[in-house]
Amino acid sequence: MKTPKVVILGAGYGGLVTSRQLEKTLRSGEAEVTLINKHDYHYISTQLHKTGAGTAADEKITLHIPDLLQANKVQFKKGTIENVDFNSKRVLLESGEKVDYDYLLICLGFEVDTFGIPGVEENAFKIRSFRTTKAIYNHILRQFAAYKEDRDPSRLTFAVAGAGFTGIEMVGELLEAIPKLCKTYDIPVNETRIVNIEASQTVLPGFDNEAIEFTTNYVKKHGVELMTGTKILECSPTTITLDNGEELPARTLIWSGGVRGNTLLEKLALPITKGRIPVDQHLRVMGMEDVFCIGDAAMFMKNDDTALPPTAQVAIQQAEVCGPNIISSLRGEPLKVFEYHHKGTVASIGNKAAVGKVFGLKISGLFAALMKQVIEARYLFVLGGPKLIVKQFFKFGKPQSKIAISNQK
Ligand code: FAD
Ligand code: NAD
Repeated sequence: MKTPKVVILGAGYGGLVTSRQLEKTLRSGEAEVTLINKHDYHYISTQLHKTGAGTAADEKITLHIPDLLQANKVQFKKGTIENVDFNSKRVLLESGEKVDYDYLLICLGFEVDTFGIPGVEENAFKIRSFRTTKAIYNHILRQFAAYKEDRDPSRLTFAVAGAGFTGIEMVGELLEAIPKLCKTYDIPVNETRIVNIEASQTVLPGFDNEAIEFTTNYVKKHGVELMTGTKILECSPTTITLDNGEELPARTLIWSGGVRGNTLLEKLALPITKGRIPVDQHLRVMGMEDVFCIGDAAMFMKNDDTALPPTAQVAIQQAEVCGPNIISSLRGEPLKVFEYHHKGTVASIGNKAAVGKVFGLKISGLFAALMKQVIEARYLFVLGGPKLIVKQFFKFGKPQSKIAISNQK
């Protein structure tokens, strides 16, 4: 009998944690597993804001995928997925290569949602991948260098769109990075501006009041110009148009206005709801027995009208059930029902403060920042065990400039 082929699309938290589950449980020769990803590195998406601000070494944010896998159990293939033919059970890569599967897992992650706001797609920077966030850092360096020549204040006005979790984490890193860059370029800090623009009336909309108050006071105290209740209507390379009539001269707009599923999902011949693929309680694409989908790409309904949010916490917990469910499918055994257990949420505001709720306990300040480190260590643990935590801890260095190229401005 032919060995069944399991193919996993995307090596984010969803794809890597599922791969580890399969490595752990599959018997020798029970299946051929292939993990396909665009790059041969995994980027730690929960820390991408650090790459954007240059506050973490590149080696801390990227992990070589083959080092995380047992090559005799999971094969890694570097390639960009272009489409899937569900009738012939074949994945089509940009290179023209075709990869056959018996069981498929789609975990192609998120894309930044720009809601069709004029100029954002072309002119704003996105926190989406290692390459796009590296482009932010390189651009910031270029603005500092150019300011020394032309003293144009729009060069040192760093605007962040959205004060959700991503926006606040980005603002926090800029608070760490900008004073250091001012020293390097010998420019007074008071010639720089960090502006955070949020359409809702408060930062961290929907979070509890203490967290909102702590965050608002913290960022304001450190000089951030917070514009809540203000919507971005348009942006050009040099100006941001706001709904209060103001035209903010700024050459940097970092867009953290929201996320959606990978746009590639829309190309697949599958049902899509709000940019994500609806899945059943076993994490299979609705109506399909051999195609699974998890993480930010999947729409898992918590109840009749609420979907689980696109978070690493959800992607990891789903992977921990999806791996065993793929194996049960191979073996013709019953599948587990996925149940989400929310452990909490912590948002960093630079490396000295954070805010959040863990196991129902509200936390803020330095203690919360330490808790955030613990959570990040746990994410490393699920990707590579204690060895990976130690290895990452001892990685030092500065972010390299211009190592990543991007078409994005
Ligand atoms: P992803 O991590 O997006 O992985 C998808 C993978 O697919 C990537 O490796 C990508 O390169 C690959 N891929 C995409 N398209 C293709 C293609 N066409 N061909 C080949 N490969 C492809 N969540 C939390 O729970 N806690 C946090 O603290 C937290 N912090 C965050 C901070 C930031 C700045 C951001 C942006 C997000 C944060 N999140 C956090 C959300 C979390 O990062 C995502 O929910 C998580 O990454 C989803 O994992 P995933 O495996 O579904 O997808
Ligand atoms: P989000 O949708 O949570 O926040 C986007 C914010 O941008 C909203 O507050 C929205 O009002 C604002 N916005 C949208 N359009 C705007 C406009 N035109 N002008 C001004 N403001 C505008 O998106 P996110 O912060 O990227 O988070 C995405 C997901 O990732 C969430 O599920 C989040 O929980 C998760 N995440 C978690 C963490 C963490 O746990 N530490 C960190 C980052 C992201």
